[in-house]
Amino acid sequence: MNIKKSFFASQATRPVWFGMFVFVATLIIIVLSSRILYNQTVDLLTENLRQRLLTISITAASSISASDLDQLRVEGDWRNPAWARVVNTLNRAKYDNDDVVFMYIFRKTENDATQMEFVADADSINPYANSGEEGTWLVDVNRDGIIEPEGPDKLQWPGQPYPEAVDIPEAFNAYFGPLTSVELYTDEYGTVLTGYAPIYDDERNVVAILATDIKADDFFTITTQTLRPFIVFILFLVAVIALLTFAIAYTSRTYSKSIEESAEKLEKANLRLQALDKQKSEFVSIASHQLRSPLTAIRGYASLMLEGSYGKISAKARQPIERIEESSKLMAIAIEDYLNVSRIESGNMKYNLTDFNLADKTEDVCDDLRSDAVKNGLALIFRTELNSRGVVNADLGKTIQIIQNLINNSIKYTEKGTIKVLVRDDIKRKRIYVDIIDTGIGISKTDQATIFQKFERAENANSVNVNGTGLGLYVALKMAEAMGGKITASSEGKNKGSVFTLELPLAL
Ligand code: ADP
Repeated sequence: MNIKKSFFASQATRPVWFGMFVFVATLIIIVLSSRILYNQTVDLLTENLRQRLLTISITAASSISASDLDQLRVEGDWRNPAWARVVNTLNRAKYDNDDVVFMYIFRKTENDATQMEFVADADSINPYANSGEEGTWLVDVNRDGIIEPEGPDKLQWPGQPYPEAVDIPEAFNAYFGPLTSVELYTDEYGTVLTGYAPIYDDERNVVAILATDIKADDFFTITTQTLRPFIVFILFLVAVIALLTFAIAYTSRTYSKSIEESAEKLEKANLRLQALDKQKSEFVSIASHQLRSPLTAIRGYASLMLEGSYGKISAKARQPIERIEESSKLMAIAIEDYLNVSRIESGNMKYNLTDFNLADKTEDVCDDLRSDAVKNGLALIFRTELNSRGVVNADLGKTIQIIQNLINNSIKYTEKGTIKVLVRDDIKRKRIYVDIIDTGIGISKTDQATIFQKFERAENANSVNVNGTGLGLYVALKMAEAMGGKITASSEGKNKGSVFTLELPLAL
C-alpha cells in the first residue's frame, strides 16, 4: 500500500514540477525574445537615423563653396564676407532639423596633415557672442536652454585648433567619402550620432569636412514606447500560462488523490474477498469431510448388495442399486476435487517425492481404465517412445491421479474413436511427456485459455457430460506445477479431438 501511495504521490508532484519548468522556460524565452526585439528596433532606428544624417550632411556640404572656405584661414577672417555666407548656410541647414545639435566644418591644417582645425560653425556668426562684451548676444549652440560659453556653447573662429580630432578616425576617413560614426556617442550632454560629408572644390579635391551631430536620445524613448504594448501583452501571456499551469497541477493532484482513494477501497474489498474465499474453502473442507464418510458407506453397501453379499437381489432392484453405486462414485470424485482445491488454496497439499518409472505407471493406469473406455465404445492404446528409462522423481499417488483425470476426461469427452496414450522424453531438455490424444469433441481456441481455471467448463462440455465440476484440470495443473511440471492442452477446434500433455522433469 505504501508503495502505491508513494507512486501516486510522485504522480501528483510530477505535474507541479512540470508546471514550474514550463513557467520558467516561458519566462526565459520571453525575456530573450524581448531583448532581441529591443535590440533589433534600436538597430533599425539607428540605421534610419544614419541615413537621414548622411542626407543632411551631404546636402549641406554640397551647398558650401570651397573658395569661401579658402578665404577663412585665420581668426580675423571672420570679418570676411565669406564667413557670413558659410555660417549662414550652416545655420539654415542646422535649424531646418530639430534634432541637429552641432553643425561645423573642419579641415587638415596646412602644415601638418595629422592635425585638424575648425573652419566654421553654424552658430558662430559672431565668434565672441557668448563673451558678454558690449554689443554681443547669447547663443545656445546645443539648444539645451543653458548658455555654457566654455562648454558645449563654445563658439568658433577660422583656424581655431581642433585637437580632439586626432582621436576620431572617422574625421580623417571622411576625406574618402561620407560616413557616420560607428557607435552612438554619449557624454554629459546626451547621446549623439555624428555624420561626416566631404566638401569638394571644382576639381573634386576634398578641401574640408562638414560634420553634423544629431540627437539620438529620442529614439530610445521611441523604442521603449514601441515595445511597451508588446511587453504588456507578453506579461499577460505569462500570467495566463502561470494560471493554467497551476490549474493543471492542482487538478491532477486532486485526480491522483481520488485514484489513491479508489485504490485503497479496492485493496480493502480485495482483502475482504480473500477472507471470504478462505472461509468458503474452510466450509467446503468441513462439509466434504462430513459427506465423505456416509458416501463411502453408501457406495460400499451398494457394491456389496450388487455382489450378492446380502442375498440374491431381484432383477428389478439391480438397476436402481447400480445407479446408487455409480452416482455415489461420481459424488466421491467431486468431493475429492473440492477437498483438493481447499488443500491447494490453504497450502496444505503434501507431496511425497519418490523415484518411479512413469511409463510403467501410465501403462497400469491405461490397463485400469481400458474397460471404461471399451464400455463407451472406445479403444485405448498405450505406447512409449523413450530414450531414457522414463524415471521421474514425483509424488506417485498424485501423478497417477493426474493421468487418470486426463484419460477419464478423454473418455468423457469422446463419443467415438480412439484414445492414444504416448509416453516420450527429451533427454537434452531433461523432460518426460505423457500425451493423451483423443478423437473427441475438441476445444475451441477461447476455451483452451480458460479450462485450467477453477469451475471452468467449455461451452460444449454439457452436451457430452453433465456431471463435471470444472475442478479436475485446475487441481491436476496445480499438482503438476508443484512437482516442477505442467499440463498443456491443444486442439484443432470443435469436434477435432484434443491433445493433453503432462510434462514432468526427467530423473536421469
Ligand atoms: P470437468 O469436471 O468439467 O471435466 P475439468 O477441469 O476436468 O472439469 O475440465 C474442464 C473442462 O475442460 C471440461 O468441462 C471440458 O469442457 C474441457 N475438457 C477437458 N478435457 C477435455 C477433452 N479431452 N476433450 C474436450 N474437452 C475437454
